[in-house]
Amino acid sequence: MQTADSKTIETIEAQNKAPRGIRDILPEESWKWAYVLSVTAQTMADFGYSEVYLPIFEHTELFSRGVGDATDIVEKEMYTFVDRGGRSVTLRPEATAGMVRAALEHGLCEQNMSSKLWCWGPMFRYERPQKGRYRQFYQFDAECLGLAGPVADVEIIALSAEIFRRLGLRNLEVVANSVGCPKCRPQYRKVLVDYFTSKKSSLCETCLGRLDRNPLRVLDCKVPECSAVADSAPAIYEHLCDECAAHFEEVKAGLARLNFPYKLDKRLVRGLDYYTKTAYEILSGELGAQNAVCGGGRYDNLAESIGGPHLPGVGFAAGFDRVVLVMEQQGNSFGERPRTEVYVAAQDEAARGAVQILTHKLRREGISAEQDAGDALRGARSFKAQMKSANKIGAAWTCIVGADELAKGSVTVKNMTTGEQNLVAEEEVANYIRRHEARLI
Ligand code: ATP
Ligand code: MG
Repeated sequence: MQTADSKTIETIEAQNKAPRGIRDILPEESWKWAYVLSVTAQTMADFGYSEVYLPIFEHTELFSRGVGDATDIVEKEMYTFVDRGGRSVTLRPEATAGMVRAALEHGLCEQNMSSKLWCWGPMFRYERPQKGRYRQFYQFDAECLGLAGPVADVEIIALSAEIFRRLGLRNLEVVANSVGCPKCRPQYRKVLVDYFTSKKSSLCETCLGRLDRNPLRVLDCKVPECSAVADSAPAIYEHLCDECAAHFEEVKAGLARLNFPYKLDKRLVRGLDYYTKTAYEILSGELGAQNAVCGGGRYDNLAESIGGPHLPGVGFAAGFDRVVLVMEQQGNSFGERPRTEVYVAAQDEAARGAVQILTHKLRREGISAEQDAGDALRGARSFKAQMKSANKIGAAWTCIVGADELAKGSVTVKNMTTGEQNLVAEEEVANYIRRHEARLI
């Protein structure tokens, strides 16, 4: 039986942990994220995309209308709450709807202008947490708004693949499909419903429900029996209207022109309702069940569905967490982990003030420096303990200040790799380190 006390303890324990599916990105990992982000930002800039900072929450309606009421995201996965003013707001489950909302709100695509925008940050979905699947996860996201032609689709696919190429990701597979448009999809939908109805006895409970509401989603069901039925289903790209068919041909021709390997996947439909024409994903062999590192496509009717004018768009979202995971599994480089260059040590109590001053000076010069700030139990640390810290943090240099150095206005600068020591005038320390730095790398 549970006593009141043990319940209290449980509550306290729960309070001291992040909620399920939520994790902290700690220093061991965060420097890798910074690297991935810098490569992403540079690639976005090279393709002409400008960064936007979007809000983390929006009116719930933006997602129910934009992403679509019948999608898993809106039906089951949103973090929705009522704010103190009685409005329903939702933590963003994805970025595209917010980006289109922002472009419309600020007139970024008025008078036939197009906008190429990117963003990154946390997204929230109430999913079953597992490897590569979290409730708060991060995406980087590019959206090309105001361009209807297939060149933009090819550019978006190429941009996502180029980011992954620069990050050194290997064994990726690009899979593409066309999901048609409101002109041709209803006819295909009928063909599909007829086909699945004839195979009803093999479909899972969820798919039987989808048959009425969202039959295209049956195509990407992971249940083996449904999957087998879906494998033999009619392909949407054989039922496209002339416009969608021509667009798809041009996208394929563009990818071929860039020597871009991809596979057609007639079962690729994506989980968001707003897609029209091109849909694609980039898959990694390294991720098991959560194998998509990136998903995207065209969404020519999204702006209208959220109450705006007609505004074509194409974009992608990549899973930051999963990209880092794949890079770790493939042993890819994240560049150099930043480390502290200099540890400044006091040989005795009288030198503590000079250590504080020198540490601050070095930092102002852009040289990363650390000093002994004492600790909660023992206060200031002995000289020996300070030298231990210098080794522990992997400092390239140690600056030692003692009675001798104080008397001479100098500092003993020790190269931690070679053990070589030199007496350097205090005001020269930063220059001395900078001069010798190049030799260490
Ligand atoms: P999945 O099929 O894995 O559920 P999705 O189709 O729901 O992906 P999108 O909405 O297209 O995903 O999001 C784009 C990318 O964001 C995905 O390819 C994936 O890398 C990443 N992603 C999506 N959901 C999560 C999650 N819960 N945790 C971590 N990354 C995610
Ligand atoms: Mg999903």
